[in-house]
Amino acid sequence: MVDFGPAGRCELMDELKIDMMKVPRYLSEVGLTAFEYPLTRGVNLPLETAKKIGDEFKKYNIKLSVHGPFYINLANISDEMAEKSFSYIISSLKIMDAMGADRLVFHPGALMGQTRAEAQNLILKRLKQLIPILNDLNLLEGKYLCPETMGKHGQCGTVSEVAQMCEIDCHIMPTIDFGHINAFTLGKLDSVDAFCDIFKELENSLGERGKTIHCHFSRIEYGEKGELKHLNFNSPEKFGPDYKLLNKALKKCNIDARIMCESSGNQTIDSLEMKKDYESC
Ligand SMILES: [Zn+2]
Repeated sequence: MVDFGPAGRCELMDELKIDMMKVPRYLSEVGLTAFEYPLTRGVNLPLETAKKIGDEFKKYNIKLSVHGPFYINLANISDEMAEKSFSYIISSLKIMDAMGADRLVFHPGALMGQTRAEAQNLILKRLKQLIPILNDLNLLEGKYLCPETMGKHGQCGTVSEVAQMCEIDCHIMPTIDFGHINAFTLGKLDSVDAFCDIFKELENSLGERGKTIHCHFSRIEYGEKGELKHLNFNSPEKFGPDYKLLNKALKKCNIDARIMCESSGNQTIDSLEMKKDYESC
């Protein structure tokens, strides 16, 4: 099964004055089945509001994920700062409990002067510490932590690095951001096979559960150090990846995915375009 939907509110929702409480009904009317709620700038949504919003999503049967704060960094060399990241994850999961959201997307960590291997080892160590803490708080039942593949060379989160993080526990699921992967590799995601290679790597590493993934999709402009900026499908710049290749690969490899569109302002329109293509390819 593949679900499509916008990551965050799009410009059209602003124009049509669709506030957060009306988003689920709007998505259901246009035929989308997922939404990613951004807590990227901080976890300050009152639990009562979270519950009200979540109830609307349930009513319209829209799958709900959350993007955690940008300042989560499990590769921080300071243990004290890493504990702060733990607390952001814990407060995000509590909001998700109230909302009925099941996937927490987060950026695993930045290198901050370390080698990739050093940063990656710190992230793995911190995740191993974090899982029992979250289990003790009963925050992982029916929920997944979803570390994301990243687009800049100064961040951890290649496909293999994210797969390694997911190997730690069955409550860790990959967020595969195809725009990031294409930007990181300076444009290598240019064929159906290149997309299938990612799915094969996940299955090799995680077995059957590697076939259920969270995804971000947008075209992304990049430079020599990777990601520069998100584009819309109709942007004139010549940067991929091409969603038609992804859709073919999803079908070919039989992948169960929730695909959140991260276009720059056109998330809903572009989600619908992807969904239409998926249904006809
Ligand atoms: Zn992200």
